[in-house]
Amino acid sequence: MAEINSITTDNFSTGITRFVCISDNHDNYDFTLPDGDLLLHSGDFTRNGTEGEIETFVNWLKNLTQFRLKIVIVGNHESKRFYTRKRYKKLPVAIDELKKDKSLVSKYGIVYLQDEAFQDPVTGWKFYGSGWLSEQCKDPDEIRRHWSEIPIDTDIVLTHGPPYSILDVTSGTAYNLGCKELLKSVTTIVKPKLHVFGHVHRAYGQLKNEDEFGKTLFVNASLCDSHFRTAHLPIVVDLKKDE
Ligand SMILES: [Zn+2]
Repeated sequence: MAEINSITTDNFSTGITRFVCISDNHDNYDFTLPDGDLLLHSGDFTRNGTEGEIETFVNWLKNLTQFRLKIVIVGNHESKRFYTRKRYKKLPVAIDELKKDKSLVSKYGIVYLQDEAFQDPVTGWKFYGSGWLSEQCKDPDEIRRHWSEIPIDTDIVLTHGPPYSILDVTSGTAYNLGCKELLKSVTTIVKPKLHVFGHVHRAYGQLKNEDEFGKTLFVNASLCDSHFRTAHLPIVVDLKKDE
C-alpha cells in the first residue's frame, strides 16, 4: 500500500468528494481541468513512453496544486516493453522513480499505483490501480490472477482498459475490446462505486446500468480521439461516502 503523510485536509464536511477523471491524453496538455478534490488518471499519458514525456507529465502533475491528490496508473504507451507478453517486463526509469520517490506523495500528492491499493487518509476512499491489459497476458488465468488481487472493499478501481462490453467498442461495428475477466471481477466480486479506465478512445463516456452491471459507475475518460488529438472533456464524478 502506498503511504501518505503530511497532506493537510480539504473541506470534507459534506462527505462528498469531487473526482476529476481523465485518461489517454497522450502527451497533449491542451485541455482545461475543472475544479475538484482528487484527480484520477487511467494511463497513456505519453505517446511513446519516453523518459522526457514521463518527466513532462510528472511536472504537469506537480503544478496541479488545486487537487489534493493525483492518483495515476500507466497505460500500454508508457512502455511498449512493459506489461507485454514476452521479453522485457520493464518500465522506463522515470516510471520506476514514480514508485520509489516517496516525496511525490508527501510533497505533491502524486500517488502512482502499480497493482496496488491506496487509502486516502482524509476521506477514507479506498483505491486500487493496475495498468494490465488482457492482451498482454499469456492466457485468461494470468489476467484473472491480476484482477483477483483487487481487494473486495475497493471503492474506486483504476484500470487502463475497459471491462468487456462496457464503453469498449472501438468503432461502429460493435467490436468489443474490453476484458471479460475484468468484467467478472468488477461486476460480481469487487462491485466498486466507480471504475475509471480509458484505452479505447472512441468509447469515451460514462455508464451506470444497475440491472446489468450493479451499482458501479463506469467512466471511460479517454481525452484523445483515435488520432491522438484532444477531443473529449474530463469527466467529473461526485461521490458521497457511506451511500
Ligand atoms: Zn490511448
